[in-house]
This record gives sequence, structure tokens and C-alpha cells, in this order.
Amino acid sequence: MSETKRTEISSLGEFKLIDHLTANFAATNSSTIKGVGDDAAVISCGSLTPNPSPEERGGRMVKVVTTDMLVEGIHFDLMYFPLRSLGYKSVAVNLSDVYAMNATPKQITVSIAISNRFSVEALEEFYEGIQMACKKFEVDLVGGDTTSSNKGFIISVTAIGEANENEIVYRSGAKAGDLLCVSGDLGAAYCGLQLLEREKAVFREHPEAQPEFSNRQYIIGRCLKPEPRKDVIDFFRHAGIKPTSMIDISDGLSSEIFHLCKQSETGCMLQEENVPIDQETYHQALEFNVDPITCALSGGEDYELLFTIDPKDEKKIRDADDLRVIGKILEKEKGMKMITKGGNEIALTALGWDAFKPT
Ligand code: ADP
Ligand code: MG
Repeated sequence: MSETKRTEISSLGEFKLIDHLTANFAATNSSTIKGVGDDAAVISCGSLTPNPSPEERGGRMVKVVTTDMLVEGIHFDLMYFPLRSLGYKSVAVNLSDVYAMNATPKQITVSIAISNRFSVEALEEFYEGIQMACKKFEVDLVGGDTTSSNKGFIISVTAIGEANENEIVYRSGAKAGDLLCVSGDLGAAYCGLQLLEREKAVFREHPEAQPEFSNRQYIIGRCLKPEPRKDVIDFFRHAGIKPTSMIDISDGLSSEIFHLCKQSETGCMLQEENVPIDQETYHQALEFNVDPITCALSGGEDYELLFTIDPKDEKKIRDADDLRVIGKILEKEKGMKMITKGGNEIALTALGWDAFKPT
């Protein structure tokens, strides 16, 4: 009897699995400018010449396309996730990937798999959240699919955006000497999630207990209602900055730095003292006996933007509210490192959230 080979998914992890499954799919259409491997694919809207050079394409409009799935029990728990927030978040996480390309989202499609556990009213609430995000970020809901599921709620959203081709920012454009920057603050969504999970466990034991959320509204909001950073893209336009590379932070800072450096073929030096962490996150992390920097490096779902800039733009970034220079891009041979608050240099490992990491 011949033995069939069986490789466990966990032996590869999410990113290697994607690379493995898509490795043999070369793009055959000239309109495919960028396929798998960035926050969104980039597609040209048509060209009169069959193989236009980048110069010929410059000034042309391109489309970006990205898709993300949210699965009940994996990405959200309806015990504490209001359906309206869930609708909003399902759109927000996709728009974040469009902004990470320095593009403007225009349309979304929404596909859902639902069981008869849900009422029409419950789904109306979910769609109210979708509509709130559509209005706020000026995107149109243009389609989707509805099907049944045996048990859990599954949501898949696709976002389509537009940009001028020469405005698109890839993960791969960082160069040694560029400054590594981030928007907002990090680790809050992770701490918010841990707090919600803790209160859920308390509620299971003591259903009469009231959840303890005083002074923790910010981190809970960051978990339940993330805001994609349209304002940062708008700022870049007004300030005349084009980042050299960019990615959104969905899986934790260290994992995203790892992606940027890998695709740009560079190393980096991150300075721990410059990583922005909100006071609430800081206090909640300590309450959980976790080092706050670990929440920023390895917690996920912040949906902030991580980007690199040419040093000529440093002052504009330093003058901006809510944007921080957190490190520097180095030559690849120098590796990926972090200088700790204590002045020690340590290797930065990709500690981000990985869907298939063995727990
Ligand atoms: P993000 O965190 O920005 O959503 P992902 O890590 O999910 O990005 O995906 C990285 C890249 O891999 C993207 O280009 C995405 O479109 C692609 N990708 C992810 N899963 C698959 C899949 N099952 N088949 C083909 N491409 C995929
Ligand atoms: Mg992304």
C-alpha cells in the first residue's frame, strides 16, 4: 500500500502556506501589475499598448483589490461583539489594506454565510455598521453573496480602490537610510481583546457580575471599532510625501516590519523607546503581567500604518500629530534589530499573529 504524504499546515504557518500554494501562479495578463504579496493587488484599467513601460503607464489610473475574511469563533465572539461594530470592522479592515497601498477605496462587496440562529433584525444591525463605514469612508456597497452556514457566522469583504499608478506604495520600496515610521499607537486592540476575554470568563462563572471596564474605553474601542487611517493618506497628499514603502499593521508590529524588510531586501533598527503605546494599553498590559512592548510587537489588529520615508521628509513627519519615527532601515546584512530602552541590541523576530501557529 502506498503511503500518501501528509504535511501539517502548522509546519508551514500562514505566510509560508500562502507562498507555497501560490508559487506556481505567474501572472499572464499585462493588466496584472501586482499579484499576491502586498496589502492589495494592483490592476491596470487597460492600456492601448500591449506591454506599456512604467513611464507610459505613469499618470494612468489603476485599481487595487483586497479581500479579508472574518470567522465567528476565530476573529470575533458574538458574546461581546455588537453586530453593528462587527459590520463596521469588516469593512474597516479591508479599507485599511487599500490605504496601505496609498490608494482610495471606492467600492466593496460583502459576502456572508449565516445560520438560522440569526434574525433579520440581527442582520439589519450588522448592515447598519457596514453602512456607517460606507458613509464615513465614501465607499459604495456594490454586491456580495449570501449563503447558509451550519453554525458560525462567516463574513468576507472585498474592497476595490483607485490611485494613479505612480502614487501606489508597495511593501518592497524601502531602502537603507530610510526612516521607519508608524501612525497612532500600538498594542491597544490586543489589550482590549484580552480584557473582553477576561470579562467573558468572569461572566461565565458569575452571570450576575458587571463587567469591569472603567478607564478602559479606549482599548475596548480599538478592538471593537478599528479606524482605518484615511487621514494619514490625506496627510501624505497634502504634505507632498510619498512613502517609499508601506503596510498596514494587522498582525503586530514585528511581523509587519518583517514583511517590509523581507520584500524590500533590507534590515532595520527599531528603537523600543519610540514605539507609541497609549497609557491605557500600558496599564492594562502591566495588569496582565505582560511587557507593554510585547503587546505592540506581537499583538494584532491595530490597523495603523507602518511606512518608510526618505530622510528628506523627516521634518514633515516629526511635525505631524500622531506620526512617529520609530527606527531606521539598514542594509540587509545588518539584520533586523531592536535597541531596547536599556540600550541593548536584540534580534527582532517575527512574533506576529499567525493564523496557523501551533498554540
Ligand atoms: P493582509 O494581512 O494585508 O490582509 P495577508 O497576509 O492576508 O495580507 O495576505 C498576503 C498576500 O497573500 C496578499 O496579497 C493576499 O491577497 C494573498 N493571499 C492570502 N491568502 C491567499 C490565498 N488563499 N490565495 C491566494 N492569495 C492569497
Ligand atoms: Mg495588510
